[in-house]
Amino acid sequence: GDSVVIVGGGLAGLRTAEALRRQGHSGPLTLVAAEEHLPYDRPPLSKSLLTGQDPAPRWLRPEEAYAELGLDLRLSRRAVALDTARREVALDDGDALPYARLVIATGARARTIAAFARHANVLTLRTWDDCLALRTELGRARHVTVVGGGVLGCEIAASARTLGLEVTLVEALEQPLARVVGGTVGAAVAALHRDRGVDLRLSTSVVELLGEERAHTVVLSDGARLRTDLVVVAVGAAPNTEWLAGAGLELDDGVVCDATGAASAEGVFAAGDVARLPHPAGEGTVRLEHWSAAGDTAALVAANLFAAPGERRPLSEVPYFWSDQYDVKVQTLGLPGHGAEPVVVEGAAESGRFLALYAREGRVTGAVALSMPAALFRCRATIAERAPLSDALAAAPWTRRPRT
Ligand code: FAD
Repeated sequence: GDSVVIVGGGLAGLRTAEALRRQGHSGPLTLVAAEEHLPYDRPPLSKSLLTGQDPAPRWLRPEEAYAELGLDLRLSRRAVALDTARREVALDDGDALPYARLVIATGARARTIAAFARHANVLTLRTWDDCLALRTELGRARHVTVVGGGVLGCEIAASARTLGLEVTLVEALEQPLARVVGGTVGAAVAALHRDRGVDLRLSTSVVELLGEERAHTVVLSDGARLRTDLVVVAVGAAPNTEWLAGAGLELDDGVVCDATGAASAEGVFAAGDVARLPHPAGEGTVRLEHWSAAGDTAALVAANLFAAPGERRPLSEVPYFWSDQYDVKVQTLGLPGHGAEPVVVEGAAESGRFLALYAREGRVTGAVALSMPAALFRCRATIAERAPLSDALAAAPWTRRPRT
């Protein structure tokens, strides 16, 4: 048969369906989507949608354009089990969907802090529904505490400041974003938030919340106590793989795939935030939670789904990620971080406008730019080729380097 079942109605799931049809796949195509909404874009949820600058989600595809996809779209439906021997997906309404090929694109969900679960006004952000709830609470609050200084926590802090709230951002590491980009770039991001009036509490964590009602006292591990109206937990995301328990698929913080996007059972592939792939720019496997990676892996899986194993192509795209905080764009190309500190090759970290290169064993693996998008994209080939750092430094300044 040639029937395809895609589980997950986010960016990766929808883009896989679109790519399959574009390639001429004409067999039955089912998209199972747990949310009640048509697929929408997540990045604005922490930015223009949270500030209310945009009122409604950016739909990934206009409603009227679904008919031409010839999709059996099951909204508000959840896959609850997978039988790889019978090649069948069980849904929460009792339906069983047989497949010739299955694409797992169930994404990730916000991690929570179990100890805070009993408190009112402790929110997370992953979906449009979460965004609406958070927007409402931000409208009522005077002071918000954001737990977690990763990308999402920084964006939520920035949006809350833009709305005029008092904001405390609590991060366990020495700098925000340190896990992703290291302390040098993290310090520049810290300066950005301090300049905009965020009360940044670094190298400390929230150990306790006191008070059951709308107001809380936040107790930090360094002993500080803060009064706050609202707590937002932004401590990362966990892949949605619970429904795969017992399917015999190899799981390890995500669905383990080979470089072509194929999972460990025949006919099963994975794309997007839930997929863990070996990456040419990395060591071992990586699970990228990047908007562009969702599109890259969707295209990869669509191309390989019906190809013979020997004819499948491996993932080759250089990873790209961006984050908008206030009027500043933080962007990464390749795989920066991993404990390495970068070399600033243009601008200056103190100025808040710079390009920095990351290297491992003397070879360039990634780059980060703050407010320097053009310079960032000019080092794409350097990263793709893992060029020696010494060559890259000799070629600087990058703004004068011709495009390659
Ligand atoms: P998701 O978007 O998570 O979609 C998966 C879908 O599957 C969900 O709708 C889920 O409900 C559904 N699902 C889960 N389990 C089941 C099941 N069992 N059955 C049926 N359906 C199921 N990336 C950037 O590069 N730049 C940014 O600025 C940026 N900003 C972001 C801001 C926010 C608030 C968030 C949450 C993410 C942001 N990202 C950003 C990351 C980017 O949005 C994700 O990488 C992308 O959404 C991943 O797409 P996906 O389809 O793999 O997963």
